[in-house]
Amino acid sequence: MADISLKNINKKYPNGFHAVKDFNLEIQDQEFIIFVGPSGCGKSTTLRMIAGLEEITSGELLIDGKLMNDVEPKDRDIAMVFQNYALYPHMTVYDNMAFGLKLRKVPKDEIDRKVREAAKILDLEKLLDRKPKALSGGQRQRVAMGRAIVRNPKVFLMDEPLSNLDAKLRVQMRTEISKLHDSLGATMIYVTHDQTEAMTLGTRIVVMKDGVVQQIDTPANLYQKP
Ligand code: ADP
Ligand code: ADP
Repeated sequence: MADISLKNINKKYPNGFHAVKDFNLEIQDQEFIIFVGPSGCGKSTTLRMIAGLEEITSGELLIDGKLMNDVEPKDRDIAMVFQNYALYPHMTVYDNMAFGLKLRKVPKDEIDRKVREAAKILDLEKLLDRKPKALSGGQRQRVAMGRAIVRNPKVFLMDEPLSNLDAKLRVQMRTEISKLHDSLGATMIYVTHDQTEAMTLGTRIVVMKDGVVQQIDTPANLYQKP
């Protein structure tokens, strides 16, 4: 279970740029929140602050009522999937998926069980010994998701995970992500430029512009009004 509360979150980068301004959002457990808005409006910055990869300049991030601002990324029970996959090129699919668990000193047999489970869900069982360069784009993206789901995160952050894939694969992966959300019971925050993804996946959509939240609403209200 993970309720996420963003209270008056601001991000000023060291160069003085004010990238996120007074961001307020209450996310309920198991919601699927979509961030949309033009490039540079602060979507990734907000995700990275939630993951702990970027310091919060001011404001409060609470998960299940606990203040998270100063909690290390590895202690946050949050997994993030990036647009460029961020796989380790020298490691096999198996080791890429196992890495985050090894880092957290999870016992080897448990790692093995989780990696094989995730590989089954994501149809990667036959590819576990391959290196990323011997995979297609869609397979790489599934490995990136596998690396996240082996950890059973309470919170799942995805930054344009499908934007490097071709149209056909995007449709297929969209269905996969929807199923993943149902089966994981995680709270999702998902950045996309794709209106179809936003409409089919989101429980609510957050529209951002120049670091400011413009609108928060359900897909039906946002896109289907006359
Ligand atoms: P989005 O994900 O919506 O495309 P980002 O969150 O990546 O936007 O970036 C928001 C703004 O912050 C952009 O104008 C970007 O140039 C700026 N920005 C991002 N990272 C840094 C940084 N490390 N230092 C200064 N400005 C940055
Ligand atoms: P987790 O899923 O547990 O975060 P990752 O494998 O994504 O595990 O990352 C573990 C650590 O390695 C993090 O500190 C992250 O910043 C770093 N890391 C992730 N991807 C890369 C990469 N491609 N190259 C170098 N360091 C990375």
